[in-house]
Amino acid sequence: MFTLIDLPYAPDALEPVISAQTLAFHHGKHLQAYVDNLNKLLPGSGLEDLPLEQIVAKASGALFNNAGQILNHEMYFTQFAPQPSSPEPTGNLLAQIQKQWDSLDAFKAEFEAKGVSLFGAGWVWLQADEAGQLSIGQYANADNPVAHGLKPLLTFDVWEHAYYLDYQNRRAAHLSALWQIVNWKEIERRYN
Ligand code: MN
Repeated sequence: MFTLIDLPYAPDALEPVISAQTLAFHHGKHLQAYVDNLNKLLPGSGLEDLPLEQIVAKASGALFNNAGQILNHEMYFTQFAPQPSSPEPTGNLLAQIQKQWDSLDAFKAEFEAKGVSLFGAGWVWLQADEAGQLSIGQYANADNPVAHGLKPLLTFDVWEHAYYLDYQNRRAAHLSALWQIVNWKEIERRYN
């Protein structure tokens, strides 16, 4: 049985970037529904004893969609902090970003552009291969780096449910505001 993760901050802690109302629906309704669906689909699937990442790597169809969305949202919600202790990346991760994009600002610009240009619902991810090489991936619906053998590091949710109450159709404004609440210490922990 999977259970809904607790948020590591108060419901209104990410305002004004993400409102308490958006968080209540996104975490309490959307993510809860994916958890409930997966728990209904798992019995008899042959995957019921596996950890979430292995279910995502092996499943297809509705099982993949619900497991993928749980993984995506757990990593999404736990990468934010109201006042990030580390508002910019440091160490290995910063060095690798600078090596590949020249600057953090150039990386952010490409990441936002890939979120804006993703058609329909999905996710933009910063991901790493086994050698630590970084890339930015666009994934439709529930897809994610884990399903493609890559390590997931940082993600922006571009499903409309992530921003429509606060930003309506202004996806670009929402994505550009999200940098204010990214907890880079958590992204570095995932990378190293
Ligand atoms: Mn979502």
